[in-house]
Amino acid sequence: MKPQLIGGAWVTSPTATPNINPSDTREVIAEFGQADAAQACAAIAAAAEAFPAWSRGSIQRRGEILDAVGSELIARAPELGRLLAREEGKTLAEGVGETIRAGQIFKFFAGETLRLTGDALRSVRPGVEVSVTREPLGVVGLITPWNFPIAIPAWKAAAALAYGNTVVLKPAELTPACAWELADIIQRAGAPAGVFNLVMGPGSVVGAALVEDPRVAAISFTGSTATGARIGQACMARNARVQLEMGGKNPLVVLDDADLDLAVECAVNGAFYSTGQRCTASSRLIVTEGVHDRFAAAVAERLHKLVVGHALEDGVHVGPVVDRRQLETDLDYIDIGRKEGARLLAGGELVTRETPGHFLSPALFVDVDNSMRIAREEIFGPVAAVIRVRDFDEALAVANDTPYGLSAGICTASLKHATAFRQEARAGMVMVNLPTAGVDPHVPFGGQKASSYGPREQGRYAAEFYTTVKTAYTFAG
Ligand code: NDP
Repeated sequence: MKPQLIGGAWVTSPTATPNINPSDTREVIAEFGQADAAQACAAIAAAAEAFPAWSRGSIQRRGEILDAVGSELIARAPELGRLLAREEGKTLAEGVGETIRAGQIFKFFAGETLRLTGDALRSVRPGVEVSVTREPLGVVGLITPWNFPIAIPAWKAAAALAYGNTVVLKPAELTPACAWELADIIQRAGAPAGVFNLVMGPGSVVGAALVEDPRVAAISFTGSTATGARIGQACMARNARVQLEMGGKNPLVVLDDADLDLAVECAVNGAFYSTGQRCTASSRLIVTEGVHDRFAAAVAERLHKLVVGHALEDGVHVGPVVDRRQLETDLDYIDIGRKEGARLLAGGELVTRETPGHFLSPALFVDVDNSMRIAREEIFGPVAAVIRVRDFDEALAVANDTPYGLSAGICTASLKHATAFRQEARAGMVMVNLPTAGVDPHVPFGGQKASSYGPREQGRYAAEFYTTVKTAYTFAG
């Protein structure tokens, strides 16, 4: 059984659960301990005890530890990327890429330990000086989803630690293996006991314990809108700081003047890579009527050439869906789309391979109206809906007609329309002639409306969440 990391010690749990490979459900990657509320409580206590020394300790040392974590992640990317592909179902190339990104994030925040700034100002009162400094919050609880099992724990943990907080990480039950390796790396890089703790187990037990414990100063969560809303309310009820990254129903607008090959590539990459299991996936393809039919036909043709299969096999473009429950959700939505009157132009079929896995061919719907459920609700699988519109104005209106606001893209050769879209799209991230998914590690990540709550993650902006501002007035006499 893979143990929990609590207060610098590896601790076994009363029960364990198998981590299953979605490309081959006969393969158990390992058994992972399932923490109970008492173990979550012990991890919080360890993090609280470690906080004073860590927050006041050398920022040089902090930076060196984070840098060492980044270096090991990058050096071991082929091996850890393989583990990621086995537990989550991303292709090997995607798994390796995600691991390298996690390493780059640690290296970025290693530098941030030395770059955190404040302000020194003169007071309106003669002889008084004012300083504004950023201070860590204390114990931070990180609750992460299965779809980016190493990058999301990394971008939360690296930032939290860089600014002097101590951490309790609760990874998704479906994907504990990458989080476990990350904890091991952080521990061996020299993080003092209790600075970083890992508690694996059910959200309803371990996650809830973090959310409710008054010693946890802040919660950073990524996952579904429903769980996020519950966590948000619970945190507000006890005045804990909270950051929620939730779903998306991201539009990719394609105008008549777009470079068609580029637009098709953006759509296929944005909607179907990583098996469509990205909160930034282009699940609504909003296309003006002059190019609609050619675009839909070209995407369908590309989809027929995509190889769906075992995540570790050469030549596979789309790995399996993460588990049976998510596969059933995807199939339900494909059924719902058909019943709503949309036409399935490609895919949407279960695929049989040599190994028993959750394989689904990428599904493309046309004749979709933006009011249909497949255009409004986050599916989180390889399913995209093409919506026909008259012109740019209607495309923009449809793009914004969604409860979500994470990422929005446009493919066009028109500077005027690209500029208007950048200005008017109600989304936290806007992409011009690029897929809606795929972001840089050093700039802010997050959305508007039902997609996000609280300050942005990543880049320098992460300090907005992981630090609190102190204004000090000094009269020298
Ligand atoms: P959840 O929101 O349920 O899970 C995200 C994390 O929250 C997991 O670690 C989970 O634990 C934990 N959690 C669950 N319940 C609680 C609770 N009561 N208190 C504290 N923590 C809790 O998402 P799912 O993984 O179940 O996925 C369901 C849907 O969510 C997907 O189909 C997709 O639509 C969406 N989703 C969106 C993501 C995004 O990035 N926007 C990422 C993942 C999912 P546990 O491991 O036990 O589940």
